[in-house]
Amino acid sequence: MRRSMLVLGLLLLFPTLALAQDPVRKLKVVASFSILADMAREVGGEAVTVDSIVGPDQDMHVYEPAPADARRLADAGLVLVLGLGFDRGVQQLAKSAGFRGELVPVSAGIPTRKEHDHGHGKAQGHAHGAFDPHVWQDPERARAMVRNIEAALAKRDPARAALYRANAERYDAELWRLRDWASAEVASVPKDQRKVVTSHESFGYLGERFGIRFEAPQSFGTDSEPSAKAVARLIQQLKRDRTRAIFLENIANPRTLERIAQEAGVRIGGRLYSDALSAPDGPAPTYLAMMRHNIGQLVAALRPAS
Ligand SMILES: [Zn+2]
Repeated sequence: MRRSMLVLGLLLLFPTLALAQDPVRKLKVVASFSILADMAREVGGEAVTVDSIVGPDQDMHVYEPAPADARRLADAGLVLVLGLGFDRGVQQLAKSAGFRGELVPVSAGIPTRKEHDHGHGKAQGHAHGAFDPHVWQDPERARAMVRNIEAALAKRDPARAALYRANAERYDAELWRLRDWASAEVASVPKDQRKVVTSHESFGYLGERFGIRFEAPQSFGTDSEPSAKAVARLIQQLKRDRTRAIFLENIANPRTLERIAQEAGVRIGGRLYSDALSAPDGPAPTYLAMMRHNIGQLVAALRPAS
């Protein structure tokens, strides 16, 4: 009895050691949202189980902690968050749930863009401060996220570092291909026609990388309604700029945008996946599928009819 207590005590003190000695036992990774969870699955492969707190088609900006989430976080071997204020609620919950392991902000070291200011179209209130947290929308930055995930897994589970390295390298090659494909697709649209409106300002990094101008009535969050003034300004601007298409987002209420589309006489181009993946049977069940879907929808709506 006493000896088993001692072993248990050692396991609690040295969980990494326990993991390394048991090749069958998988590392329990909990990611704050679905896109991060997918990346962690790619890098962790068979060696990990990955759970996400904010799931497919769910909006992190309005996340409310639930007791079941606290239990999942407390049990985690590793918690991956984005950082940049995006998933502060999950970080706070991990702390209050008694998670004592490592909580890794995957955006570490990734250059961020600040809120751009054209002096129009902005809602009042910025839930996330002045930094745009939506770094995953740029495949280059996604590659940096993957490197950070690999480092976190290797540190937590050094016995399987080589496996994580190999998985990350394979996935990195796919992200390269994604970027090249997306560049070629967007290049088929004349530059002056690459103007799009979405619900909230979540595609700034995508726009910067590929040269598409995105506007939105809401800023980096979705947790406050856009002001009537911001909506009116946006409608004026859409008419003036002859914006090609308005896109709904999987996480946002479509009502405001549908009204804007009607009043400005701009058509709805489709639905983009911004801050969450789709369900497994949807068009964006993985990060790679999400990016291909979004670029495909954008290019189809923007490309001139021939
Ligand atoms: Zn967002």
